[in-house]
This record gives sequence, C-alpha cells and structure tokens, in this order.
Amino acid sequence: MTTYDDQNIFAKILRGEIPCIKVYEDDETLCFMDIMPRTDGHCLVIPKTACRNILDATPAQLAACMTTVNKIANAAKTALDADGITLQQFSEAAGGQEVFHLHFHIHPRHEGLPIRPPGTKGDMDVIAAHAARITAALDQA
Ligand code: AMP
Repeated sequence: MTTYDDQNIFAKILRGEIPCIKVYEDDETLCFMDIMPRTDGHCLVIPKTACRNILDATPAQLAACMTTVNKIANAAKTALDADGITLQQFSEAAGGQEVFHLHFHIHPRHEGLPIRPPGTKGDMDVIAAHAARITAALDQA
C-alpha cells in the first residue's frame, strides 16, 4: 500500500495553507471548485481526513463523501441548469490520479456538450460565479 503524503495540494487546502473557492463543508468533507474546470461547475468533494484514493478509503470516508456528492450533484444540476451529472474518481497515476488525496469530480453535463480536455486553468471570476450559483442552490434545497 502506498502511503499518504500530507504535502499534497488538497491537504494544504484542508490546512488553510493555500486558498480554494469553497462550495460546501461539513465535519467530514469539503467541496471546492476545480481550478482547471473541464465542465462549467466542475467541483471536487474530498474527505477531511487522510486518504490517498479509493484503494485505502474507509467505509466511513466513502459514506461521508457520497453523502456530500449526492447533495452537491443535485445543487450543481439545478444551479447550472444541467441535464445530468458525471462523477469521476481516479486512483494512482496509472488510473489518471494527479493529486494524491481522495477526491470525486462532479461535472454538470449538458446534452451534446463533451467534457473539455484537462489542463487549462479557468477564469477565476467565472469559476467563482459558478460556485456562487451552486451554494445558492444548496441554500434553497
Ligand atoms: P486527478 O488527481 O487527476 O483526479 O485531478 C486533480 C484535479 O485537481 C484536476 O482536475 C486539477 O485541475 C485539480 N486541481 C489541482 N490543483 C488544484 C487547486 N489548487 N485547486 C482546485 N483544484 C485543483
């Protein structure tokens, strides 16, 4: 089993060492916007406790993350007026993982619109506006 490295960027976000555009948090999970969004409203749900990926996740971590994923998916679908949601999770480099703290990608999807290629930094004002729409939808739920 590969060990958890607490210097990963999401661990730094959890410790407040680097900023994020927060969408939601509870005692066990945090949701924030992806800064290289592959869809409008692309956000990430992570556990607050150490976990590398799906391979070492505990049932409690998964339950907490899925509860938050369900909440955010509904809010994001409403907020972005989406037709559906794609949920992604990558584990280990061979599986496409780049940040080694468990995370679930939530993508609001629109009929006929593909997920964009990875690696392009988004406009932070646009990302923040999408976050505000999702948090407003959460407040109304
Ligand atoms: P992956 O590990 O392949 O599931 O992808 C990691 C994701 O984290 C990518 O979609 C990146 O755009 C995203 N990401 C990397 N750094 C940050 C950051 N500082 N804040 C928000 N998202 C990030």
